[in-house]
Amino acid sequence: MWCYYVSPAPVTVPVHDVSASYSLADARRSLETEKDAIHRRWSRHGLWVGVGVYVGFAAPDSWLIPDVAPTTIAARLVIAFAALLAFEVLRIAKARTIWLDVTCASALVVGYIGWLWPAVASHDTTAMSYYMIFGAIFMMGANLFFSFSFRLSVATSGIVLLAFFISIYWVFPTTPAYRLAFGLFYISCFLFTSFVNWRLNVERSNVLLNAAEARYQQWAATERGLELLELSNTDYLTGIENRRALDRRLDECWEGWKKHRRVFAVILIDVDFFKRFNDQYGHQEGDRCLTVIATSLRDVVSRSHGTIGRYGGEEFIVVMPIDSPEMAKGMANRIRREVEDLAIAHTERPDDRSVVTVSVGVAVTRQQSGDKVERIVREADLALYAAKATGRNCVRVFDPSLPRPDDSVGKLVPLLAAAIDRNLVSLVYQPIFDVDGVARAVEALMRFKMPDGTAVSPKIFIPVAEQTGAILELGRWAIETACRDILMTDRMATVSVNVSPVQLKSADFASNVSDILKECGISGSRLALEITEGLDMEMQSEIFRCIADLRALGVEIWLDDFGSGFAGLSWLRAIEFQTVKVDRTFLHDCSNPRGLTMLQDMIALIRNRGNSILVEGVETAAQMSLLKDLRIDRVQGFHLGMPVSADMLKAA
Ligand code: GH3
Ligand code: MG
Ligand code: MG
Repeated sequence: MWCYYVSPAPVTVPVHDVSASYSLADARRSLETEKDAIHRRWSRHGLWVGVGVYVGFAAPDSWLIPDVAPTTIAARLVIAFAALLAFEVLRIAKARTIWLDVTCASALVVGYIGWLWPAVASHDTTAMSYYMIFGAIFMMGANLFFSFSFRLSVATSGIVLLAFFISIYWVFPTTPAYRLAFGLFYISCFLFTSFVNWRLNVERSNVLLNAAEARYQQWAATERGLELLELSNTDYLTGIENRRALDRRLDECWEGWKKHRRVFAVILIDVDFFKRFNDQYGHQEGDRCLTVIATSLRDVVSRSHGTIGRYGGEEFIVVMPIDSPEMAKGMANRIRREVEDLAIAHTERPDDRSVVTVSVGVAVTRQQSGDKVERIVREADLALYAAKATGRNCVRVFDPSLPRPDDSVGKLVPLLAAAIDRNLVSLVYQPIFDVDGVARAVEALMRFKMPDGTAVSPKIFIPVAEQTGAILELGRWAIETACRDILMTDRMATVSVNVSPVQLKSADFASNVSDILKECGISGSRLALEITEGLDMEMQSEIFRCIADLRALGVEIWLDDFGSGFAGLSWLRAIEFQTVKVDRTFLHDCSNPRGLTMLQDMIALIRNRGNSILVEGVETAAQMSLLKDLRIDRVQGFHLGMPVSADMLKAA
């Protein structure tokens, strides 16, 4: 018995895009289409096999009813040929499946009647009466062999049954017992096979429904899986990829580098002064800012086949295959510019800018990249750290000689940011004496202590404050405090305050100083700002402009630590300092003749330039008398006066 079922498994679900919707009816339709194709194939096979068997029965014809065999055999051949021809023509013409079924059903009916009609004329009635039992095979064929619909099966087997009854009642001479026995057999066969056919059809339709349901469920499960997968790789806030997805991308690129030396870059991007942004505009606005940055950077990066993800907080990471390190730097610059061009207002920044910017650190794979992908991320992080340290809103590419952040100073960063509010900074003042031995000026020196009271050396906390930008606020506070402590109270005629290059590079520094002078109601000439000559020359023009603005306010500019670095002479030539402070090491070296000559030469040099000379680090009476002999303008040192608080200064 040949029949087929539509199996519920395995089910192949069509590949779909996530947005397309797929219903149970769609599943059913697609299954019906598949089932139809199988049905047509099986009908064709069935017909060819059936026709083969039908023609094969020419042999029993010639043994059992030899007198009519020529006619029956001819009928078999003609009918077989006609049936196959009709079927193949319809199949090639892509006729509907029902017409193929009708052709098969007609072949069964015509095949039966076409044989029966000449066969019942045989004179060998005994043999023919047995032979007639084969009519039941045609009924079984209609109900069980093919996959006809129930109605077509019943109609086909019904016609076969009718043809049989007509032949035994009106054509073929038989006994009543034969009619009864064979008649009952045919009727039972008809009922039995029709019933089985009905069951099969019900079963088939149930199987189809279940398969459609299973297919739909599988689609829905796959869909949910895809959605979950996407969700697990997406940053909930910005919609770009999250750290997990980027880590995987990094691993892929790393494999490509290890196996095929495919070069790639890691770019870390951190929003500058974002904490202040949140503080001023609120967290919701902060979230919106991150989303806008993420979306626009995604467009920039994807154009160059890179991947961007949120690496945490206000930090993004880009992983990108590159042809050359220049390509990575180009992308980093584009990223920096893109964010700046968004022009998202950020007016509370401590520097001179007023829009949101990012600092960018770049690292590319190189021979020394080690055997762990973490290393290249760490290098990008160091580059980012360097970008933060050099004023932010800039790009730095990793260079093995970049300064590495010292973790022990890491805890200083938040403390310095809150140092003023938490009262962790203070100023002490060290007197500066004129030749006549009278102190007319003091130098303000910044002190910082941890919340537990431990003092931290300026050598440690000042560089950290410069790198984090905290120096801008601390520096401004120092100038204002010194003016209030010393000048407003007339404790001293002049106060000098140290300023950092970071402050001089900030465009509104001079106007801040002007505001302080106005608020305190004092003349600019009473304030001196000390610039250390260690300062690099790269931002000259900005610094010169700032110094000119300060001079216009009457503020004095002193050169600090002269002789301690390489740039001192260039500075001396470029800027007109009111006072030059000779680095203490020159005084301390005067115990030997070479050192003394050096100091004398230096003093001559400064004097020829017309600058007033101040020597710091006077620790002994001998040093003091030497300086008197050298006719130094002013002196400063522990021997003459220790740094003290403003109150103690009055007492002194
Ligand atoms: P720097 O220029 O040194 O990077 O300064 P910064 O203030 O940006 O850096 P810091 O690491 O001190 O502060 C990061 C801030 O980013 C703190 C945190 O409130 C904010 N932030 C982190 N994640 C989110 C976020 O998902 N939404 C918002 N609105 N703010 C965030
Ligand atoms: Mg940060
Ligand atoms: Mg930041």
